[in-house]
Order: sequence, then C-alpha cells, then structure tokens
Amino acid sequence: MIQVTLPDGSIKEMAQGATPMDVAKSISEGLARNVISASYNGTTIETTTTLTTNGTLVLYTWNDVAGKKAFWHSTSHVMAQALEELYPGIKLTLGPAIDNGFYYDVDFGDQKITDADFKKIEDRVLEISREKHEFKMRPVSKAEALAIYKNNEYKTELISNLEDGTITFCDHANFFDLCRGGHIPNTGIIKAMKILSVAGAYWRGDEKNKQLTRVYGISFPKQKDLTDYLELLEEAKRRDHRKLGKELDLFHFSQKVGQGLPLWLPKGAALRDRLEQFLKKAQKKAGYEQVVTPHIGMKDLYVTSGHYAKYGADSFQPIHTPAEGEEFLLKPMNCPHHCEIYNARPWSYKDLPKRYAEFGTVYRYEQSGELHGLTRVRGFTQDDAHIFCTPDQLDAEFKNVIDLVLYVFGSLGFENFTAQVSVRDLDNPDKYIGSVENWEKAENAIISAAKDKGLNYVIEAGEAAFYGPKLDFMVKDALGRSWQLGTIQVDYNLPERFELSYKGADDKLHRPVMIHRAPFGSMERFIAILLEHTAGNFPIWLMPEQAIILSLSEKYENYAKKVLDLLENHEIRALIDNRNETIGKKIREAEMKKYPFMLIVGEEEEKNGTISVRQRGQEGKGNISVTIEEFAAIINEEINKTLKQF
Ligand SMILES: [Zn+2]
Ligand SMILES: [Zn+2]
Repeated sequence: MIQVTLPDGSIKEMAQGATPMDVAKSISEGLARNVISASYNGTTIETTTTLTTNGTLVLYTWNDVAGKKAFWHSTSHVMAQALEELYPGIKLTLGPAIDNGFYYDVDFGDQKITDADFKKIEDRVLEISREKHEFKMRPVSKAEALAIYKNNEYKTELISNLEDGTITFCDHANFFDLCRGGHIPNTGIIKAMKILSVAGAYWRGDEKNKQLTRVYGISFPKQKDLTDYLELLEEAKRRDHRKLGKELDLFHFSQKVGQGLPLWLPKGAALRDRLEQFLKKAQKKAGYEQVVTPHIGMKDLYVTSGHYAKYGADSFQPIHTPAEGEEFLLKPMNCPHHCEIYNARPWSYKDLPKRYAEFGTVYRYEQSGELHGLTRVRGFTQDDAHIFCTPDQLDAEFKNVIDLVLYVFGSLGFENFTAQVSVRDLDNPDKYIGSVENWEKAENAIISAAKDKGLNYVIEAGEAAFYGPKLDFMVKDALGRSWQLGTIQVDYNLPERFELSYKGADDKLHRPVMIHRAPFGSMERFIAILLEHTAGNFPIWLMPEQAIILSLSEKYENYAKKVLDLLENHEIRALIDNRNETIGKKIREAEMKKYPFMLIVGEEEEKNGTISVRQRGQEGKGNISVTIEEFAAIINEEINKTLKQF
C-alpha cells in the first residue's frame, strides 16, 4: 500500500500501482469524469501513471490552469497529427500550451498554410478527437530517438540536449511525438477547436535561425466555450487601448522620438493629471509627502542599490560627462533616490513613519519586439512611494496602504480582485536577507492586514523576493482578464545597502523597514488597462471633458459660450462644437469620442436660458431640458456614485 496525500491534507491508502484516475474514482465518480490531468510531488504526470511511492497528488479539472494546459497541450498533438496528414513531409518542432491555447512551430518546407486551410485542419482535428484515442507515454533510448528523427534537424537538436534514459514519446492513434508528458486521458473530450492565426517564428526564438510557421490554436470541452471565447476576442479587439488611444486623442508614438516612448496628447495628459491629482489628494490625507527627484543618477547609486546588477549591462548604457568623466544612468527605479532623501538628516523613532511619494519617471530598456502600446514601454511614470518605518509600525502601515489601494480600485470601477501574499520558502532560509524575527513580523503584518481588511487572498510560499515579503493585487477586468495592479512590498535590503537608520527609544541606532508601493503601478500601464476595462467610458470624474455643447447652428455661438462659462463656474469640464454641421452628425461624433453628456443649444434653449441634455448611450430616453444649475446637480450626483471621499 502507498499513502497518497491530497491538497486538503487528507490521506488515501491506495494499492501500489494505483493511478491518479483510480484515486479520483475512490473519491467520487463525478470527480473521475472531470479529472483531466494530475501532478505528483509537484511533477506533472499522466492520469494513467502508476503511483509507486508515497506522495502528494493534485488532480486537475478544466477549471484549473494546469488542467487547461494539459488540455491544450494534448490538442497540439492532435493538430500536429492533422498537419502531418494534410501536409506530408513537414517537420514538426515544438508545440507547447500557452496562457490561452497552444501553438505548434512547423517547418512547412515548400508548402504553405493560409487562412483558407484552417477549416479543413480544424475538421480533421475534431474527427480524430471523436475517435477517443488515449495518450500513452513510452520511454525511448537516445539512439533510437535520434534514428527515428534523423530527417528532422529540430527534433534531433532537442534530443541531443536530453539525457539518455529521460527521453519519452507520446503516442495517440497512429501518431507519436517527442514529449515530456502531461496529457488529458483521451482525445474524446476535445469538442471544439479553432486555429486562431499563423505567424512567423524563428527556431528557438533566435533570428539567426530558420524562420518557421507558428500555428496558434485553442480548444475547449464544449462548443459554447469556444463561441464565448471568440466573442471575447472580438470585444478585446474593439477595446484595444492602442485603438481607443488613437480614437480618443490620448497618446501617440513617433518613430522620430523613439520606440516605446509614448507622447501624451493634451487630452491624455489631462487624464493623467486628473489621476495624479486624485491620488495625491488621497495620499496627502494618508500622511504622504511629495518629493521630486531627477531622471538620472550616478552609476554608483545603482551599484549601491543593486539595480545596476539587474538593469545595468543589458539596459540603457551610462551617459558620460565630457570633462569630469562622470557616469550617469537613466533612472530605472525611484527607490535609491528616496533612500538618499531619507538620509538627508538623522531621524528619531518619534519621527517615523516617513512616507515619500513621487510620480517618478523611470527608463528601462525593452527589446523592440517586446514593446506593446502603453503596457510595455521604455519610459514610464510610477505612482511610487516609499514608507520608512520601525518594524513595529509595519502592521499599521500595511493596513493604511491596503485602504489606499482599495479606495483607488473602488473609485475606478475595479470591483473584482484577489490578493496574493508572497512569503518565504521555509526550506531555504539562506535565500533571504534580514533576520528571521523581522521576516516573521513582516509576514504576520501582511497576513493580518489582509485578513483585517476582508481581502480574498491566497498565501504563496516561496514567492517572496529575497529582500522581503509582498502583497500583490490581481484585478479582473470587464473581459475577465487578470492584471496585476497595486503591489505592496516590504524591503530589508535597501535600508542595509544605504545604511538607513533612526535613533530608537533605547538611544541606539536601528534600521528602518522600507515599504515600496504603487497602487496604479505605472500611469502608462494603468491607463491602458483602464481603457480596455471601461472601453473608454471612464468614470465621469476622470473624463478630460465631461460634456460637449452642440449648437444647432452658428447663430447660437454666443449662447454656447455663455453656457460654457457657467459650466466652468460649476467646475464642469466642457467644450463647444460650433461647426456648421448637422446636429445628427455632431451627436454621432460626440458619441464616438465618448463624451458623457451632450448639451444641445438652439433658439428654444437660448430663449429659456436652458440646455437640452442627452446622456451618452441612452438614445431611447430622449433629451431633458434643464437649467445649468440643475445640470450641475445631475453631474455631481453621477460623480458621487463612484468617487467617494478618502
Ligand atoms: Zn505531449
Ligand atoms: Zn521602490
């Protein structure tokens, strides 16, 4: 008998040679029907692998990431089989699962695959799937594997790098492939499959190598799942922040300025400014002080901080001064500068915590292929702050930061989020700097803060950085995609490296603890996520322009200006469209630009001193005729729905 431990801690006594599927059946038939993959002692195995030693078993279903990966990886085998049948003589290389689906990199030789071929490949994949072939692993000797793939230089290269005795093939139907394992029980559960696209990809990602064709696909256990996924993809395209950024005149990229360096247009700059003011106001109430630091710093600063080791050689190279021979680096992080601000004078424990905040612009080299809109850029502004406190203050500071992050999420319409607490790997204590006592204090502070604030959180052992534990917020957007926003990180490293100190009640010098935190992360990435989450329909308080005044004709220009003045008195941001166009056209364009309110003015309105209000996206409701005062009340009510006081 062997003892199989399950994730809930319960132990199953199983016969030697039982499989994960046997364990699932011993729990319930329902579970056995849904289990599609498994891992034993942390290693992915087949659901049919025989278990011979005691260990910890995790069973995965479609609802688990690991289950989906096994499902998609298995489908890539079936797709490879279909491709080989339809394009004889092609060379298969690698076909892993990815976050959404899978791909297979193929050398098609002289043959070509086009969009028109997708359907016949998909049909063949589903035909094979319906035959319910089991996936079976088999060991193969290195010599044998090399002989089998003698005409495939890619597989030969992969096999050459493997140890003899560790090489396995996976069989299903009459097809085999070099594979480490991790499959679903049989092809029968693949009910829907779609080829999403083809793209060029260099063998092993190296542009010196031959270019292969990467075939991207995705598959599901239900047809409906595929339909939903394709709809989501369409919606994501409509909401792509690069597309919306252009339509809403928010930002621009110029090849002359440089790749990955966004230019903020007036409306985008106003949006950023509003977000900054919003956070500054809340931070002021939370006891932060604003600081300003330069965009460059001496190379030695980053050698001291350790950032040079991380961002040095592979990043932007130092800037040299002509006469003095000084070396400066573009700032990759604000923390070293803030440490030196702390070091500007001595502190007593009574002065702490110090909370320094800065919208600090940093520069990091990213390869051009990695750049993507505002989410991967080379220059970006962090809503950064560093808190310097005593170990005993960590608890309260952490709670304050969580309050601030939750306020930010609430005001911007992110309602669905979870938190991850990353703590030490207790089996590897040498990996971490700082005393065990301090680590325990910090980890307990984070966990108790998360608990206290009612966060839905998980604790991940071994995920902490070497210099301290942290809490990350994972936010789900309107399309169900997860983004990491709002990191709070404890740091014992920089206070050491910069020799930060404060005088304690015992009159001796002590090291403060440092907290890094950024609720938005970076302004660029945050605005990108916000654009895609809201499809450009920002909360009204954030809109660069909250209303547009549409005159029925040029005759009413003076009245339109008078309305604009009155709106400004009520601190409502608006502009006038006084072009000689039909009102229908003006409304359509205003809808496109996502102005929350359209205020129509003509003869009737001028005579009565009113405006005719139309709210975006509420065509059926008809316009309402109100005075400016009444409109100000309407808009303030809308704003107060989302923007609360901190
Ligand atoms: Zn495989
Ligand atoms: Zn920092």
